[in-house]
Amino acid sequence: MSFEALALEKEELVVKRGAAIAPYTTFGIGGPADVLAEAYTERALQRVVREAIASRMRWLLIGGGSNLLVGDAGFRGLVIVNRIEHLRVTGNRILAGAGADLGEVVEAAREHSLSGIEFAIDIPGTVGGAIRGNAGAFGRSVGDISVRIRLLEGTELVDRTPAELGFAYRHSRLKENDHVVVEAEFELVPGDRAEMDRVMGQHAAQRARRKEKGLHTAGCFFKNPILADGQKVAAGQLLEAAGAKEIRDGGAGVHAYHANYIVNMGGASADEVLRVAREMKRRVQESAGITLEEEVMVVMDQPAAGVV
Ligand SMILES: Cc1cc2nc3c(=O)[nH]c(=O)nc-3n(C[C@H](O)[C@H](O)[C@H](O)COP(=O)(O)OP(=O)(O)OC[C@H]3O[C@@H](n4cnc5c(N)ncnc54)[C@H](O)[C@@H]3O)c2cc1C
Repeated sequence: MSFEALALEKEELVVKRGAAIAPYTTFGIGGPADVLAEAYTERALQRVVREAIASRMRWLLIGGGSNLLVGDAGFRGLVIVNRIEHLRVTGNRILAGAGADLGEVVEAAREHSLSGIEFAIDIPGTVGGAIRGNAGAFGRSVGDISVRIRLLEGTELVDRTPAELGFAYRHSRLKENDHVVVEAEFELVPGDRAEMDRVMGQHAAQRARRKEKGLHTAGCFFKNPILADGQKVAAGQLLEAAGAKEIRDGGAGVHAYHANYIVNMGGASADEVLRVAREMKRRVQESAGITLEEEVMVVMDQPAAGVV
């Protein structure tokens, strides 16, 4: 059976062969996927994953593509784009499909005066991507407000608690397996709308100083390192001190307003981005003796057979 034969309407599943991955990432980089399936419902996602397992095909999940660098040769296997976007507010809880924009969840919370998610304003990407990487800002992260996470584990749908996902700084157990986030439930507290607007405005203004809107970037390329004494250091500061802002290779370079952002300034290849990243890492190693660890997921495959 092929993915096209999964007998689902195009409102549920769209399958493409050889589609470029670049438009699905904020870097705007990434060659063709052997197969690319956009799943709009839980049923479609489940069937696509079942078919991939049955045909022993590897897969790569994409949400908003805002934390992802895919090579120019693309992906040998199945790219699944998660488009399950439902959003429901009940009491203090928000239930969101994994393909829903995290920003939409923040807006729903604001509309219902539900406080606790203000930190997430302007973090790009989907709920699924945010859960996997425990996205956060201003000292808080999505793991702090999650109460139930529905996963596709193999072909089984299972509800998990945050404790089972082992949230830590920009980490969850989902980074160690291929389970798929299908939806997540967040618990917030009744808040004062004016105070929420004030805090969100402050956060948004702080982010605006990075001039990140509309950039072809994946945000911070490296995690903030945690030193032996438990102290967390800002990778951006280490990079700034190491003179990283001057690094450029072809169409890729370090952002003038944030030394931990690599930007596709126009026509950059994935190799150029990686060379910039390597040089950033080398400089921090040399100047501070600290090894930076990638936050962005990097997928570099070989070209399909017959493609030079
Ligand atoms: C300008 C800019 C600013 C940013 N600022 C921040 C910030 O302040 N804080 C922060 O934490 N991050 C930040 N990021 C990074 C990024 O927005 C987050 O990591 C975001 O949560 C990624 O979500 P996504 O849907 O785009 O994930 P993607 O990039 O699509 O995927 C990232 C990883 O998650 C996996 N994945 C995606 N969906 C699912 C799913 N449903 N189930 C299982 N795995 C899945 C993918 O396979 C991939 O490995 C920023 C990025 C940009 C471009």
